[in-house]
Amino acid sequence: MTTNESRPRAAIIGAGPAGFYATDQLLDAGFDVDLIDLLPTPYGLVRSGVAPDHPKIKSVTRVYDKTAGREGFRFFGGVSLGSDITRAELLERYHAVVYAFGTTDDNRLGIPGEDRPGSYPATRFVAWYNGHPDGEEEEFVLHARRAVVIGNGNVAVDVARMLMLEPGELAVTDTADHALPKLAEARIEEVVLLGRRGPAQAAFTNPELRELGELSRADIDVDPAEAELDPLSERWLEEFGDGTSKRNVALLRDYAQRSPTGKTHRVTLKFLRSPVEVLGEGKDGPVIGVRVVRNRIEPDAEGRLRAVPTEATETIECGLVLRSIGYRGRPVDDVPFDYRRGLIRNVAGRVCDEEERPHRGEYVVGWIKRGPSGVIGTNKKDAAETVARIAEDAAAGALNEPANADPDATAEWIAARCPTAVTWEGWLSIDEHERRAGEPHGRPRIKLVKLADLLAAARAGTPARS
Ligand code: NAP
Repeated sequence: MTTNESRPRAAIIGAGPAGFYATDQLLDAGFDVDLIDLLPTPYGLVRSGVAPDHPKIKSVTRVYDKTAGREGFRFFGGVSLGSDITRAELLERYHAVVYAFGTTDDNRLGIPGEDRPGSYPATRFVAWYNGHPDGEEEEFVLHARRAVVIGNGNVAVDVARMLMLEPGELAVTDTADHALPKLAEARIEEVVLLGRRGPAQAAFTNPELRELGELSRADIDVDPAEAELDPLSERWLEEFGDGTSKRNVALLRDYAQRSPTGKTHRVTLKFLRSPVEVLGEGKDGPVIGVRVVRNRIEPDAEGRLRAVPTEATETIECGLVLRSIGYRGRPVDDVPFDYRRGLIRNVAGRVCDEEERPHRGEYVVGWIKRGPSGVIGTNKKDAAETVARIAEDAAAGALNEPANADPDATAEWIAARCPTAVTWEGWLSIDEHERRAGEPHGRPRIKLVKLADLLAAARAGTPARS
């Protein structure tokens, strides 16, 4: 090694929860860490994924701020791996490179009409209301009376709730300013949540499902027949169901007993239905409905309960379809990628080739390592597994051997490649600007959305909006 620094150096690509937990643990393990993100802002999905009406969940950023205050930490925001800098260049400068950039693409249904106007991946809707710079230009059809949300996970619940909250409830959140008036004017009165399997297999967590039954302006509507379990699911729940599934089923049975209370809006849950076509006029006409097939539950070869289509179909009229059926990773630069799983190829966090031979000095954490599952805290354990592998490799002398790990030279290289790179101080300046803007309105912050505004606030430390 041609560096004078005695501490090994790690680059972590992606400043979401997994990136921050890995940073903290690597600092503990004696590394200096450069945390690099595509956006000028840190926190990943905590900023641009967690629903605006869930501020408590967002308060986890206080933990990450503590990490950022530690000796040996640097942040470089607004730097793109693959265009500003490359994988090969990172390996010239760091003993360990850790990919933590999450799963950015949405899964596709692969059905006719999926891309009609009015049918969108939930990821885009979430990015839009959360003020992700990529979502600013989006337009959504919100004048229809009914929306169908496909999928039975927590993202489906988030988007359903965002459509059903009162304008006054949203007005005190950090929902993006461009989305607030559009959501307030939206005419959607009913959201239908569609699960391809039954209540026992729903992926919701209990608090999220409970919240759907406590909305101020929407009744919850579950037909008693929908809450009935088929015999296979009943037995599966009894024998193998975890507490979450059992409580979900109990909650859904409770919802099925409820009568409408006369609220103006409604959330309807339907199960055992898969969309087979998004309907509309001609090839490109806007959405007018979804044709769905009724499913039954059957075990597959491994005994897992899956949805199998029957002959019965029905049409649900609607003008908006949000597809919330999970995410998949996007290959970045030439980082080894498992296209079938949509993840970086790895064994327990060590990036590897097709024969599972590790790539020296390359590691992965979070959703791009294991897939888009679990809650924020799951990433702490996930990072611990990867950091343990890094520590093993350090002890065995098996880390990467960079040609030039000098930290000042690295900072100069990043500044040369990306003159607008935002440091942690730059982020603190954006943060202060956003909080100050939100304060008079009783909001936690008013997010800056345009990249130019974010960069100006990072530089100036004073309000700047274009
Ligand atoms: P998810 O929990 O994996 O749910 C995906 C849903 O899509 C499942 O119901 C799945 O059904 C369904 N699905 C998949 N392919 C389908 C298809 N072809 N047709 C119809 N349905 C299909 O994913 P997510 O909602 O995107 O959430 C990702 C992770 O973030 C989860 O771990 C979630 O808990 C977490 N999250 C947490 C919060 C929170 O804590 N408040 C909020 C948002 C997200 P099958 O089960 O049949 O595959």
